[in-house]
Amino acid sequence: MTGKLPMTMTRAAEIVSLNPATLEKLARFPIATADDVSQAVARARAAQPAWAALSCRNRARYILKVRRALYDRKEEVCRIISDETGKPEFEALTTEVFMVSDLMSHFAMKSEKLLRPRRFTLAVFRNKRSMVVREPLGVVGVISPWNFPFSIPVGEIVMALMAGNAVVLKPSEHTPLVGDAIKRLFAAAGFPEGVLEVVQGDGSTGAALVEAAVDKIFFTGSVRTGKKIAEAAARRLLPVVLELGGKDPMIVCADAPFERTVKGAVWGAFMNCGQVCASVERLYVVEPVAERFIAAVVDEVKRLRLGRPAADCSTDVGPLTNEQQLSTVVEHVADAVARGARVLAGGRRREDLGGYFFEPTVLVDVDETMKVMSDETFGPILPIKVVKDEDEAVREANATRYGLLASVWTADNEKGRRLARRIEAGTVIINDAIYTHGAARTPWFGVKESGLGVTHGDAGLFEFTRLKHVNWDLLPLKSDWWWFPYTPRWEQRFKTLMKVLYRLGLRKIA
Ligand code: NAD
Repeated sequence: MTGKLPMTMTRAAEIVSLNPATLEKLARFPIATADDVSQAVARARAAQPAWAALSCRNRARYILKVRRALYDRKEEVCRIISDETGKPEFEALTTEVFMVSDLMSHFAMKSEKLLRPRRFTLAVFRNKRSMVVREPLGVVGVISPWNFPFSIPVGEIVMALMAGNAVVLKPSEHTPLVGDAIKRLFAAAGFPEGVLEVVQGDGSTGAALVEAAVDKIFFTGSVRTGKKIAEAAARRLLPVVLELGGKDPMIVCADAPFERTVKGAVWGAFMNCGQVCASVERLYVVEPVAERFIAAVVDEVKRLRLGRPAADCSTDVGPLTNEQQLSTVVEHVADAVARGARVLAGGRRREDLGGYFFEPTVLVDVDETMKVMSDETFGPILPIKVVKDEDEAVREANATRYGLLASVWTADNEKGRRLARRIEAGTVIINDAIYTHGAARTPWFGVKESGLGVTHGDAGLFEFTRLKHVNWDLLPLKSDWWWFPYTPRWEQRFKTLMKVLYRLGLRKIA
């Protein structure tokens, strides 16, 4: 049994929704057991064939109804996101609700064409024809994090549904109310029963979903959990997509557009209180502009308004979303300072504000022995390192086990693209930070320990499909030339034919 419990009732196995700005308890949800998860998967399994039998256009109509319902309830949805995560409502609107509405329109309009069967001829097998069909996988399990508790799962759900799958979502235990809002939104759009199931719970519920009868797991979260899921899934060859953490570098060249780069660094590091997989987590600035650039960044950071988003709608930065995240930030700053880093702005926990607040912080004199330069911090910390030149910046940027996003800041796009090709990351943005995660058309993925598989873009939609290849004869023949019987005469003739084809093939390339 899953569902929201009244605040007065308690059960041993439950998760509690907390407002991180006030530490007020918002709701409790019972943790779905392995049995609950199996039943949800069974309901999704039963609903999926009828859903897949709808035309792409009809599935798109449902998605556009959710989009409409979201538009009508945007204030309510943003308030729930803000209450549970601590991010400003305006940020919830721009980076979650607006972005995912755009994703809904994109996949509602484009999926039919992208999923259309593709027919082709086969070079030397002249009498044969082939067709590649993209079929739904069946039931997809989506396990999501708390930092974009709305846009990340809804984006995956929309792509999965457009491809003809049913979905079982396991939202983060830190944002169950947002998970509940997602369920209500799809119900309001009149989705058939079972096509989207939501199971609330913690890691144990996520682990049960990985063990349940799903056809693929789509996971977004930490590297540590990603590895556990990969191990569990490997035991039964269950395919997984893993969108994991980052330690994303920003490279500032001497010719970077000054004001834009300063503002971009500050937004890229402190948006969502730095709790973004694609946040600027390390900044490398070249020597000639370093002093002026650092001074301007520090000025800008000191102007950021830290506070409770619900109390003041001009708050720029709210609290961290949970206590564990706050401890990581405190630990990383203490470790950096103990190893010789200097704090130029912020640097302190703000208990006086009530919740999990930490000041937007700028660190200099940092090096790779410090946690803040090697492990994902996921908090409002911007460590800045001065480097001799762009070559050193690229070397430092690549010296990490992560590879999600990087940014290069320069007035010369051509140089930016050259540097981008040398950086080991899934995405490199020139003169901007983070934002392409919100662009439905662009693929998003990590290299190295930042993940496996792709989300968004054409490739992201294809992750929710299984290829089927169908092959047939154009004209019925008595036999094919590679069948029995094998004879010396036929072998000789075949070698002559091969010689001709070989030469023809070479001519085509030349
Ligand atoms: P997390 O790994 O702690 O949890 C993510 C989800 O996994 C939660 O729903 C959790 O309940 C579930 N889970 C925990 N243990 C599990 C298990 N053993 N089996 C199955 N599910 C389990 O991550 P988080 O703290 O919620 O999110 C922050 C992390 O997510 C950061 O590392 C961040 O970089 C990453 N992230 C990556 C992207 C991306 O697109 N690459 C986007 C957002 C966040």
